[in-house]
Amino acid sequence: MNKIKILGYEIMDIDYKKLFQEIECLLQKKRFFYFVTLNPEIVVVAREAQELADYIKKAQMIFADGIGIVLGSKLLTGKAPQKITGIDLVEKLLHKQKYSFYLVGAKPHVMEKAAQKIKEKYPGSELKGYHHGYYDLKGEQAIIKDIKKTRPDFILVGLGFPNQDVFIRKLIKTLNQGIAIGIGGSLDIISGTKKRAPFLLRKIGVEWLYRTFKEPKRILRWYFLQSYVWLILKEWFKKLKITFYPQR
Ligand code: UDP
Repeated sequence: MNKIKILGYEIMDIDYKKLFQEIECLLQKKRFFYFVTLNPEIVVVAREAQELADYIKKAQMIFADGIGIVLGSKLLTGKAPQKITGIDLVEKLLHKQKYSFYLVGAKPHVMEKAAQKIKEKYPGSELKGYHHGYYDLKGEQAIIKDIKKTRPDFILVGLGFPNQDVFIRKLIKTLNQGIAIGIGGSLDIISGTKKRAPFLLRKIGVEWLYRTFKEPKRILRWYFLQSYVWLILKEWFKKLKITFYPQR
């Protein structure tokens, strides 16, 4: 498996065909795994949160969730990993119509709509269960119990960062099979409540700009973006120094 290492994380460089072969192998192992779709915000927060950094590093697969990680990799290693976003991965998994799923996340009416859409559009994808993302501690325990009982192939957790990662960490302690993936706001898109950026904008890597235009409060997250750019530049300068002035 091709992996590209940046800032301590090994990012998968894999096409979907190979990825699905790997997924088949993982599902046969009857163990619990989780994937992380890495973005600049997660990288920056994890610099100050060792537990989070360890959790990401222990993921079975880490994907470049967007242009930020792709360009950062290109600058630091000369290699750009395949971009695999949460929503693309989810749609491809559903499209296979051969796996079973448990969904957690989004507002109650959004979750209902998403489940309905999945049943209509992907009848071969079995929904073992689903629950919206606004619950208390007791509710959370009940959801985890239900996931354990229903044994889905995939647990798609759309609680946003960092809630979804906290939830998946609880699954690690409980489950012994299935693959959990944090999928951010994907359920909003699957339900039709929110629209994805037009294809062309996605293609040129500015989906994040479109999302900020649609939801201006996302501009607050740009703070993480500039911290990330700085982190990448610092690593790059370090690398240049090593190249130009080799240490004796
Ligand atoms: N959400 C949730 N429970 C919470 C907070 C958020 O289920 O306590 C959901 C929210 O409804 C939305 C998703 O988490 O569907 C977060 O989406 P966002 O677009 O912020 O995530 P991103 O794709 O940027 O990671």
